[in-house]
Amino acid sequence: MKHIPQRTCICCRKKFAKEQVLRIVKYNGQFLIDENQKHDGRGAYFCGSEECQKKLLKSRGLDRAFKERVNESVYQLVLNHFTDKKDDENG
Ligand SMILES: [Zn+2]
Repeated sequence: MKHIPQRTCICCRKKFAKEQVLRIVKYNGQFLIDENQKHDGRGAYFCGSEECQKKLLKSRGLDRAFKERVNESVYQLVLNHFTDKKDDENG
């Protein structure tokens, strides 16, 4: 049987296959969206459900995941990632 790695969403704490979540990585002091999930560094995972998009800022999920105060612009970066996708689909 194939083992499917599970990733926990930083917001809802539900578990997902890694293909279903967005990886956010801290590398050289910078927060990046890791599109291919192959970047070095400490990672956090976000499921991007509508509920979680609404709650992410309030939940301070990234702060918890990285054990530091994460700038709001990083949260926006993560949220924009999903907003942009939606726009593409509509256009
Ligand atoms: Zn979630």
